[in-house]
Amino acid sequence: MVEFAARDIKIPANLLPSDGRFGAGPSRIPAAHVAEIASSNLMGTSHRQAPVRALVREIREGLADLLRLPAGYEVVLGNGGASAFWALATVGLVRRHAAHAVFGEFGAKFAKETDRADFLAPSTVFQAEPGKLAVVEAVAGADAYCWPQNETSTGVLSPVMPVAGADPEALTIVDATSSAGAVEVDFTGIDVYYFSPQKAFASDGGLWVAVMSPRAIARVEELASAGRWVPDFLSLPIALDNSRKDQTFNTPALATLILLRAQVRELLACGGLAASAARAAAASGHIYSWAQERAFASPFVERPQWRSPVVATIDFEGVDATDIQAALRANGVFDVFPYRSLGRNQLRVATFPATSVDDAAALTASIDFVVEALA
Ligand SMILES: *Cc1c(COP(=O)(O)O)cnc(C)c1O
Repeated sequence: MVEFAARDIKIPANLLPSDGRFGAGPSRIPAAHVAEIASSNLMGTSHRQAPVRALVREIREGLADLLRLPAGYEVVLGNGGASAFWALATVGLVRRHAAHAVFGEFGAKFAKETDRADFLAPSTVFQAEPGKLAVVEAVAGADAYCWPQNETSTGVLSPVMPVAGADPEALTIVDATSSAGAVEVDFTGIDVYYFSPQKAFASDGGLWVAVMSPRAIARVEELASAGRWVPDFLSLPIALDNSRKDQTFNTPALATLILLRAQVRELLACGGLAASAARAAAASGHIYSWAQERAFASPFVERPQWRSPVVATIDFEGVDATDIQAALRANGVFDVFPYRSLGRNQLRVATFPATSVDDAAALTASIDFVVEALA
């Protein structure tokens, strides 16, 4: 009954955002970038030939430029997304003992992979409840420290910095899936920074990209010669070898690469990482301030310094967030649902670089209209 009423609400066109996609991944893709796929003469051609390899080279060089990689760092890529990279890292980067910070679903999934690997020691986990931050601390014998920069499930941002007191040989491995390209990063003491392109890079899924330090590359080579059996598809030495030739081990989705290049070009043209991070922070900042001003809404993450600049999670009180979602969807505004297992009366809004501050403001104006209509 209420659900029916919610779907019947008609939000005035002048309040609606220019683009209704606010999902945390796959996320909004600029229409001009999608048009590049149709007009590209690369679709349907070999990924082993010069034109597609030039596309991959531009992505690798553009990312190095955008992220201001220190000398010796390499951009490695392969098929399967960040979830596949957890498997590659488990078999090809962790020597014996991983330590993880877990403060949401994504961090938990990687921790589970290393913990269940029978050739590794049980993993050490530093855990925080949803909405709070956990950070790794030095652990005797740990050779890999892993955490997400942005926990997409809860909208909590973590600092990215070396682990004080850690063994000097230990690697730091950061899941930057939803933060790379939209949040500042300093690579001092950071060895692996990996992501999928369907979040801040406004591309499609299916690919993983990992920035690797010389120390990380040395670890890959060390483990490759240590004799651990690894299927070719999960082999970091093979991925590294192919990446250095601007290729992937097996056939990549060319549309994903074309979209990724388009966004790398755009972010570089629009002022680089600092400008992109500032835009995302302004868009999410608008949403957090709006929530604080409304009696029916409040930011889920209590500590302001933990609030993600790219994924804003907002709790609602006195109004059913699923009704708001239904009304928004009926008006062409999508994917503001909270992470499925969180079970809160909440909306989650991504403010990746493809989303303007104006659209964030239009979204909150639309929500105001819906809440009033539901009352
Ligand atoms: C989306 C996401 C993943 C999973 O990415 P896939 O490409 O679906 O494997 C992992 N980590 C974080 C932080 C994410 O946001």
